[in-house]
Amino acid sequence: MRAAAARSGSFAAAFEQEPIASAGVGDVKDEAFAHSFGRERLWKRSPAALAHDARLAADDVALKDWQFLCLGEVANFAAMRRHVGRARADDLAYEVLDRIAATVPGVRGSVVGRGLVEFLFEGDTIGDLEATLSRLASLFAQPVDLDGEHHHLEMLFAGAAARVPNTEDVRLAEEAEAALEQARQDKVSVVRDLSAGTPAFDRLTLMRELPAAIRAGEMFVQYQPKVHVRRQEVASVEALIRWQHPGRGLILPGDFIPAAEESREVAALTLWTLDRVIADQRLIAMAGYNIPVFINISGQLLADDAFVASACDKVRNGGAKIGFEITETSVIRDPQSAIANLQTFSEVGITIAIDDYGAGLSSLAYLKQLPASELKIDKMFVMQLTSSNRDPLIVRSTIDLAHALEMEVVAEGVETQAALALLSVMGCDMVQGYLISRPIVIDALLTYLHDHRAQKTGGVEHPMFRRPKGLWKAG
Ligand code: C2E
Ligand code: CA
Ligand code: CA
Repeated sequence: MRAAAARSGSFAAAFEQEPIASAGVGDVKDEAFAHSFGRERLWKRSPAALAHDARLAADDVALKDWQFLCLGEVANFAAMRRHVGRARADDLAYEVLDRIAATVPGVRGSVVGRGLVEFLFEGDTIGDLEATLSRLASLFAQPVDLDGEHHHLEMLFAGAAARVPNTEDVRLAEEAEAALEQARQDKVSVVRDLSAGTPAFDRLTLMRELPAAIRAGEMFVQYQPKVHVRRQEVASVEALIRWQHPGRGLILPGDFIPAAEESREVAALTLWTLDRVIADQRLIAMAGYNIPVFINISGQLLADDAFVASACDKVRNGGAKIGFEITETSVIRDPQSAIANLQTFSEVGITIAIDDYGAGLSSLAYLKQLPASELKIDKMFVMQLTSSNRDPLIVRSTIDLAHALEMEVVAEGVETQAALALLSVMGCDMVQGYLISRPIVIDALLTYLHDHRAQKTGGVEHPMFRRPKGLWKAG
């Protein structure tokens, strides 16, 4: 139950202020269109919509749980224009809005381009969006009467759903646009749900775009230092891949690695990363820091012999200090070949780290058999270290276990001085996280390494280490 006042500043308000504005979808062409044809032709609200608006204006009214932002496009606009002439074609979008208004209670909308409308309504469940779009699709499957002639409007519908209160207006608009893009390709209505934590990008599109993106140089790598607690120096860095997409901006790996894994593109992507990292590791070494660079290896690659052979060749010929971070879960999937391949990596001089320890299935039986020298405690335990009762116990026993197995322990996701202090007392060997540094590009990393060393040799403690001396474990 939410009061209408909670919605102030939402995109509903934007609708009301400028009904014909090209709200996100419009490009220069649409703007010109709106300017020359549409501005004075505001879409008239249906009586039902007006009544709904009036209801929303009352403070004590209960709102529905979902907001839907939809786009409807006349896919055969060019053909229609040939049939009915330009002026009449430009009116089509208004006819579409009228029909939508007659079908969807409480809808508000506007024309945002040639044959393109945007509309907004609310519902109790996400099913209301799906049901409405399917009702609209059936409605437009019927011919429309345009000045006594029957025409078939090929309509495409797409929508994005968010739970109320929605604080992500821009993302909702972007999701609706992406859904329309997909609807154009698949020729069916497409719906996206922001609240499900759905990645902002659909896997199918990303999978299609990925190979060309690698070739076009849209991928780049950032590095995040791991700092040795006792020695107070950078022990290694982890490479984290990013995709600078020309249209969608920066995409983080959580949004495209799963797609890459599904399309089996992840081998090519990882080999590309390895080349990049080998070159950058040389730069780091040339600057006087001969520290290894770790890259993340997807589980499925541990059973991919072709990948293993290529990766080993690259590391052997590259002469760089490289580490691989792998998860336990990837070993459990096919232990025999995973362990054999990890052994091969190790023989080539690649350091192995177990990533995300504690987050997935843990198997002490395998842990002992892996040629790993580093255990990374998953950030989910580290981030709540100082606010949870259980997590310090898990972290402490993990540190002891790793030491018993002669592995060094890295805590990832270290964000606070308090967490660092506690980890230090617990005997954690290395820390990584936003407190020390966010992932940064190679130039920034070289500067970071330089500054860090200068501070150390100048006797100035790095800000992250500003804590009571008594907390340091004797070296
Ligand atoms: P990961 O290996 O567990 O990497 C750590 C993630 O936590 C990174 O997110 C990093 O930016 C983030 N992080 C680091 N410090 C902190 C902190 O203090 N607090 C919080 N909240 N987060 C922190 P990112 O870069 O988005 O990477 C996500 C995951 O994507 C990685 O998780 C890794 O599993 C995967 N990944 C990244 N690069 C590659 C790659 O080249 N290949 C493969 N296969 N996977 C990759
Ligand atoms: Ca990692
Ligand atoms: Ca991790």
